[in-house]
Amino acid sequence: MTDGSTWLYCVGGGASSLMLAAALSKYPVLPGPLRIAERKANLGQAQSFGFWVDRPHSLDHLIKARWSRWQFSRQNTESTVHIGERQSYVLIEGADFFDWAALCIESHPQMSLHLNVEITAPPKATHVVDSRPPSLSEFKTYQTFAGIEIEETHPPDPSMVDLMTCMHCDADSLLFLYRLPKPNGCTLIEWTAFGGRPFDMEKLVRMTQESAPSGRIVREERGIIPMGVHQLSSWGTPIGARGQMTRAASGYGFKAMWDWAERAAKQLIEHNEMPSHPIYPAWVGWMDQCLIQIIQSAPHALAGIFSTLAQRLSGDQFADFMMKPTARNALQMMQAAPKRPFVYSAVGCARWI
Ligand SMILES: Cc1cc2nc3c(=O)[nH]c(=O)nc-3n(C[C@H](O)[C@H](O)[C@H](O)COP(=O)(O)OP(=O)(O)OC[C@H]3O[C@@H](n4cnc5c(N)ncnc54)[C@H](O)[C@@H]3O)c2cc1C
Repeated sequence: MTDGSTWLYCVGGGASSLMLAAALSKYPVLPGPLRIAERKANLGQAQSFGFWVDRPHSLDHLIKARWSRWQFSRQNTESTVHIGERQSYVLIEGADFFDWAALCIESHPQMSLHLNVEITAPPKATHVVDSRPPSLSEFKTYQTFAGIEIEETHPPDPSMVDLMTCMHCDADSLLFLYRLPKPNGCTLIEWTAFGGRPFDMEKLVRMTQESAPSGRIVREERGIIPMGVHQLSSWGTPIGARGQMTRAASGYGFKAMWDWAERAAKQLIEHNEMPSHPIYPAWVGWMDQCLIQIIQSAPHALAGIFSTLAQRLSGDQFADFMMKPTARNALQMMQAAPKRPFVYSAVGCARWI
C-alpha cells in the first residue's frame, strides 16, 4: 500500500484524518493525490462530540443541539450553574460527521479512502500524517467513560447540560456524571473517571445503568481516552490524539482538531508545508501537566478543584480556557484555582496535597 506519487497519506480514517481531508476538499486542485487508509471496515463508531463554540463555525451545519447552561456539583452538594453569554455547548453526532466527511472525500477527484487496510510500515508520500491512537501504556493519565443514550419516558429539562455532577473520588479516580438532554427527547448519560490508571469499565457501566432513567436504550458508547501522552515515535506528522490534539486536562479534542485541519489545509495548499507542532502553547502544556500530576498523585483533591473553579469562573471564562486557552484566560484560571494543590504540583510534590 505504498505509492511514490501520493502527495498526502493519512494513516487512520478517524476524526483527525477525515477533518484534514474534508478541509482540503474545499480546494478543487491539490498538489497531488490524497489517500486515507483505515484498518476498520467502516468509518466512525457509536459516538458523539460535545464542545464549546463562541462564534459562527464552519461545522455549524453539523451541530444538532446547543445549550447555554451547564452545571457542576460535588456529590450531595448544591450545584453551580454556568450561563454562557458568548459560549454555547454544542453537540455533533458521530454519524453526521462521518457521513459528511465521507461525502467530501468522495466528491473530490484526487482523494481516495481505503477501508480494511492496516498500515504496518511508514507509507511513501510527500506528506504523511499518522493518527494511529496511542496505546494505553503511552497515556499519562486516563479518562474512562461509559455512556448510554436513552429515549426517556419523561424527558428532563432539555435546556441544561450536567457537565460534571456528583463529583467524588473512588478507587483513586475522580468520578463524575455527564448528562446531555437532547432536543429529540433522548438523553446521553455517562459516568466518567479521571485517574492515573484505567477505571474498571464493568463498574462504570453498572454505575451508568443504575443512574439511567427508564426508557428505551438507543445506543451505548464507552472508551478510554488519553489525558496527556508520552513522547511517541510516529510516521510523518502525528495528528489527533497521537499528536496531542486532545487536551491533556480534559480529553476534549474535536474542535481543536478541526481548527488545526483548516489551518493545515491552507498552509499545505499555499506553501506545500505541514504546520509545526504542538498546537497548544508550552505554558498550556505546563498547566495541564500540573493537573495531570494531581490526577496521578492526589485524585481526592480534584472534586474540590473543579467545583472551586466552577464557582469562581464565569461560564464564558471556563469555556474559553477549555477550548482556546490564551494568556489572559490562563491568568483568570490561575487566580480562580485553589492555590495549594497547584503550588505543590508545580514543585513536583503533588503527593503531599
Ligand atoms: C467514544 C468517544 C467519545 C468522545 N467524545 C468527545 C467529545 O465529546 N468531545 C471531544 O472534543 N472529544 C471527544 N473524544 C475525543 C476525541 O475527539 C476522539 O477520540 C477523536 O476521535 C480522536 O480522533 P483521532 O483521529 O485522533 O483518532 P480516531 O478517531 O480514533 O482515529 C484513528 C483511526 O486510526 C485507525 N487505525 C489505527 N491503526 C491503524 C493502522 N495501522 N492502519 C490504518 N488505520 C489505523 C483506527 O481504526 C481509527 O479509526 C471522544 C472519544 C471517544 C472514543
